[in-house]
Amino acid sequence: MTAEAEATTGDWTQPGVFAVAPGVHRVPLPLPSDGLRAVNVYVIEDAAGLVLVDSGWALTESRQALSAALATLGCGLADVRHFLVTHLHRDHYTQAVQLRQLFGSKVSLGAGEGPAIKVLLAGGIHPFAPQVNQLLASGAQVVLQRLQALAMAPPGDPAGWEAPDEWLLPHQEIELGTRTLRVVPTPGHTQGHVVFVDAADALLFAGDHVLPHITPSIGFEPVSASLPLGDYLDSLRLVRAMPDLRLLPAHGPVTASAHTRIDALLAHHADRLDRCATAVAAGAATAYQVACGLRWTRRERRLEGLDPVNQMLAVTETRAHLELLAAQGQLTISWDDGVAHYRPAGPAAPQP
Ligand SMILES: [Zn+2]
Repeated sequence: MTAEAEATTGDWTQPGVFAVAPGVHRVPLPLPSDGLRAVNVYVIEDAAGLVLVDSGWALTESRQALSAALATLGCGLADVRHFLVTHLHRDHYTQAVQLRQLFGSKVSLGAGEGPAIKVLLAGGIHPFAPQVNQLLASGAQVVLQRLQALAMAPPGDPAGWEAPDEWLLPHQEIELGTRTLRVVPTPGHTQGHVVFVDAADALLFAGDHVLPHITPSIGFEPVSASLPLGDYLDSLRLVRAMPDLRLLPAHGPVTASAHTRIDALLAHHADRLDRCATAVAAGAATAYQVACGLRWTRRERRLEGLDPVNQMLAVTETRAHLELLAAQGQLTISWDDGVAHYRPAGPAAPQP
């Protein structure tokens, strides 16, 4: 399918190989029963072989789709010499690990994912214990029970994670022969998330940092950051301060301007922070109570209308907004029986 046909149908998840820039192709790979529907990997043709940004989830159908896509470029899975992975989520990272086992490809991941990989590899504890703890601190035991009723722990199957061959350092330059990519750390979605910037061709390989249709989840990872939303907003402003770049997202179509989408994401979070502060001023005390008063997804659903996994993500995201408001001095926190209660901060003391 051509880029033109893609524009006609408007469905970015359709399988195929879509030219983005000379020698750069977007390849959507399938995800199982997942609201995200597909994940884009970006194939860069290089003199020494293929370099992929992100890898897909280690699933048979994903590997078959990648193999078929590479075949249209006259290549096979064994021609992938290097995976540059934006973050450790399984739909981005695990197929790289699997193909490395088969073909010896090199796998690189942001150095900030080190603590999370260590926890995943240590075993013995549930890798998503932080999300359970956050639900308890949010007064959202009921969401935890709904997850358990489905016999679903928060998603976090530890299979498929290994350490990478290389930990990418901030602002490291990756020379590919045909182009140079710069590693830019963008913590928030995960602590070790990185984007890759091709300044010469004005391309942003954005991973999940900037997505065109949805707002990325914040801090869904095995080790909690202290203020993941604050990190995320700082990372958005960091990319906004660069010259504008074409947005090559991991989920969704390629769009012309990263700046346009970043402005919308910053406005979205400013609005959510306002709504959270208003809800607390109106008497909602816990993150769960605030989340119940907000509306979710573009369809403006109530929390109760989401599936339990998305209820968990909604509550932990609400908590991230409340924690940022508290760090900014707008709310105070008191703890009661392991649950955080938020109140509006009193009027600021007069400045001398
Ligand atoms: Zn992700």
